[in-house]
Amino acid sequence: MIQLFLPLGFLGFVFREIKGSMANIENMFELLAIKPKVVDRPGAGQLVQTRGAIRFQDVSFGYTAERQILHGVDLAVSPGEKVAVVGPSGSGKSTLVKLLFRFYDPDAGCITIDGQDISRVTQGSLRQAIGIVPQDTVLFNDTIFENVRYGAPDASDESVREAIRLAHLDAFIDSLPAGADTLVGERGLKLSGGEKQRVSIARTILKRPPIMVFDEATSSLDSHSEQAILGALREIAQGHTSLVIAHRLSTVVDADRIVVLEQGRVIESGTHDGLLASDGSYAALWRKQQNAQD
Ligand code: ATP
Repeated sequence: MIQLFLPLGFLGFVFREIKGSMANIENMFELLAIKPKVVDRPGAGQLVQTRGAIRFQDVSFGYTAERQILHGVDLAVSPGEKVAVVGPSGSGKSTLVKLLFRFYDPDAGCITIDGQDISRVTQGSLRQAIGIVPQDTVLFNDTIFENVRYGAPDASDESVREAIRLAHLDAFIDSLPAGADTLVGERGLKLSGGEKQRVSIARTILKRPPIMVFDEATSSLDSHSEQAILGALREIAQGHTSLVIAHRLSTVVDADRIVVLEQGRVIESGTHDGLLASDGSYAALWRKQQNAQD
């Protein structure tokens, strides 16, 4: 019986969390997939959002004690700034996002948002401050319209429609026989990776958090989907602090700053043009991707 109760209890917990915070739905599923490793400190306070400044200070981290993934990473994103993190596969880019969400705590160093150490605030308030467009978005067995509304359960129909438009999801929806009432998810229409990301972008637009994190899908999208997503991203990034984890470089050209990560270390940082001029790792990565497209 205990074996039966435990999973049910856990599912009940998850269900309550999901109901209580629909806006953080992606996070819950990430949590399910990787199991929570961190808990709130006793008496942890709420994150007080002011401007959306992110700072990684000398952060080191490994998933296991044997293998360190990040080595003394320093990275600051100013309010309203768009920073892109690039680097070879396995360099630790997505790991930075997992630490920002506090799926794990750093082994050394600390991460702050608006000067507050994220390990000292409740995870609920932390995740409320950040909107994520993850690599793979979870869709519920519901209409595409309601799937967007998960971003902000209290949002009006009009705001949901506006988010759909800003996320460039409307043309796709119009092409469906039942439009926004089309059922999606496991038991409904299966969406492509790019379409799912646009649902996720629409959810984030609706949530309007001060900090946006976009973990670009690794799988390559067709160029039409990519352009639509880039356009949507530009819209939502306006006036928000945004951190883009770029597995392809086409997403980063217009970033205020590009940070290059290699084997868990920041090795370069600058604008696209500045980094090309300095002819280092970024320039080499750029040439490699340009050649791959030819
Ligand atoms: P990509 O561009 O291929 O997505 P990335 O730069 O985002 O790569 P990460 O996903 O941060 O890289 O992974 C960095 C390293 O950490 C990789 O070597 C990966 O194998 C390892 N890693 C990632 N997640 C885990 C995990 N849950 N447990 C153990 N090791 C992990």
